[in-house]
Amino acid sequence: MNLFFKGILIKLFLSVFMLLNVSSISAEDCKIVISGSDMMKFDTNEINISKSCEKFVVILKHSGNLPVNAMGHNIVFLEADNLQKVVSKVNMAHGIQNGFMPEMEEVLFKSEMIGGGQETTLELDRKVFNSEKEYVFICTFPGHFALMKGKLKI
Ligand code: ZN
Repeated sequence: MNLFFKGILIKLFLSVFMLLNVSSISAEDCKIVISGSDMMKFDTNEINISKSCEKFVVILKHSGNLPVNAMGHNIVFLEADNLQKVVSKVNMAHGIQNGFMPEMEEVLFKSEMIGGGQETTLELDRKVFNSEKEYVFICTFPGHFALMKGKLKI
């Protein structure tokens, strides 16, 4: 095979590869927009992560007007079995910048806490989750988790 044909083959291979790559990204929606309100509610109670998403992006918006110190929201992912343990540690004393909680290995992913009109982005690594287990997401502003809670489906 001469160099000319090798060059054409490589170009063909690259363009097919790029087409496949682009279509696999557009076919899978590896992100969700979720919002928290001044009514202390998330607008969804279930997040699904497709098996084909290695990374999953959660965009948290605060649809209300109240400031972060009055009606702050974050989104925290943990195993359902660890829910009681984690929420028992939630305390104002840990500060808003820490989501009112200490560093805990049970907390798999934690976003920044935001107030009305703000938004924040959290990237989840699918490898951290095991499809045999159950996971939940909550807001860890003190008192919010009872209402601001949902299931994560892997
Ligand atoms: Zn909240």
